[in-house]
Amino acid sequence: MDSADRNLATKARELSLSAFGVFPDIPFSFNSRLKRVLGRLVYSKSREMLTPLRIEISSSISDNEELLKKTLLHELSHFYLMMNDRDFSHNSPEFRKLSQELGFDIVAEYEGLPVHIWVCSVCKRTVAISFNRRRKNGLSSCCKAPIELQEK
Ligand SMILES: [Zn+2]
Ligand SMILES: [Zn+2]
Repeated sequence: MDSADRNLATKARELSLSAFGVFPDIPFSFNSRLKRVLGRLVYSKSREMLTPLRIEISSSISDNEELLKKTLLHELSHFYLMMNDRDFSHNSPEFRKLSQELGFDIVAEYEGLPVHIWVCSVCKRTVAISFNRRRKNGLSSCCKAPIELQEK
């Protein structure tokens, strides 16, 4: 576990303690491959048994304090509803209630967020997502070509 993941776990435990009154018994890590969602609860399913495995947060929001906090509360809400055999989906009335009480968005996706998507200038594949327009240099790993802002 690297230090960024350790900090993430510490933050998640603090948030969980203040919002739910308990420490979450689950690992937390940043995942740089999460491009479409801000975070996710990874779980296994065998027969009717759901077992939460870990919570992953997109690396792209590691510096965005406010969004990171909201995303952790969002994923923790899925986690606790699952642990208590409740409906943990986005349509669940309990999930919606938690989102209002704790102040996070129900859909933790990039859609609707002011993000900038950088693509490979040759094959147009997404290479990076950022919250500012600061120029990104470097070549894409796919085609070794310059990267550019995706046209909306
Ligand atoms: Zn969700
Ligand atoms: Zn390419």
